[in-house]
Amino acid sequence: MSSKKINKKKEPEEAAGAAYLDRELRPSNWNEYIGQKAVKENLNILIRAATERGVPPEHVLFYGPPGLGKTTLAHLVARETGRNLKITSGPAIERVGDLASILTNLAAGDILFIDEIHRLNKTIEEVLYPAMESGVLDIIIGKGPSARTIQLELPPFTLLAATTRVAMISSPLRSRFSGGVFRLDFYTEKEIEEILRRSAKIMGVEIKGDAEREIAKRSRFTPRTANYFLKRVRDFAQVEGRPINLETVHSALKLLGIDEKGLSPSDRRLLEVIADKFGGGPVGLGTLAAALSEEEATIEEFNEPYLLQLGLIERTGRGRMLTPHAYMHLGITPPASLQKKLL
Ligand code: ADP
Repeated sequence: MSSKKINKKKEPEEAAGAAYLDRELRPSNWNEYIGQKAVKENLNILIRAATERGVPPEHVLFYGPPGLGKTTLAHLVARETGRNLKITSGPAIERVGDLASILTNLAAGDILFIDEIHRLNKTIEEVLYPAMESGVLDIIIGKGPSARTIQLELPPFTLLAATTRVAMISSPLRSRFSGGVFRLDFYTEKEIEEILRRSAKIMGVEIKGDAEREIAKRSRFTPRTANYFLKRVRDFAQVEGRPINLETVHSALKLLGIDEKGLSPSDRRLLEVIADKFGGGPVGLGTLAAALSEEEATIEEFNEPYLLQLGLIERTGRGRMLTPHAYMHLGITPPASLQKKLL
């Protein structure tokens, strides 16, 4: 993003508040979209080939933990192809009629983005199949013996969809994403540092190298978390009248309850409950969720991917287990059976 744009947009940001800033931090071109090299390369080929043939790109599914940049990719594909982007989500499409109205209102070449597509119900999903495959909408009119099906021709469109739970996507739906099914990976610390540098510039704040590294280290390898921490650190520094240095980062993140590995209070509670109540596991997801008074989906989508990535828990056929590293991190002596693994 050019510095001209940054300066020009600073005033309205202060006036309009955080929502404006979130939009501002979203990369607006491929160069600003850091990392995810393989996904970017594949999408570029898909887009260029379709553009050369003068047709909309084929349907694509993105999956991976929240905050890794799935929605941003949809915006970038739309921008790159100069097409309109219509955004909706699985839970917002409650009835077949909702989907029918969204699809029939698309113009030729539009891109439709459905976030959390795993939350579409079966009946609605089945209406989506012929729409994706053959560009038609089968609508049943009436009930009982007098019911009849009419078929509407849809304008050519591209469906981009995102999910945090790819295992919940049925294989018929998955197979309709003819352009590809792409997994977004966690970012490296270096990539997160790059994202932080760009965000700091947009926010007009100065951040020291070691402070930037410290935020990156604790950001769950996730851009959204990194930007969130940067904003909180900025607020803290501003209110306390301090520069953004290592000390400020430590104080601000301590206040948020984020520990040195980037674990949130809910991550630590999960580990502690497995250690204290379930002897380190294995414990099934349902039992764990009940013990934590938490939704299973929150544990699976938000806590677990990062804890697995850090090697603090393992998923076995019989449930979740703590690793010796988790005990070390919690400062608890691991059971004898695990101690030899640490040697
Ligand atoms: P998701 O849809 O996967 O939950 P988003 O696309 O909404 O994630 O990304 C969250 C925020 O993180 C974006 O607004 C953007 O500021 C930032 N972000 C995500 N991916 C990247 C990236 N590759 N490079 C730079 N910033 C990113």
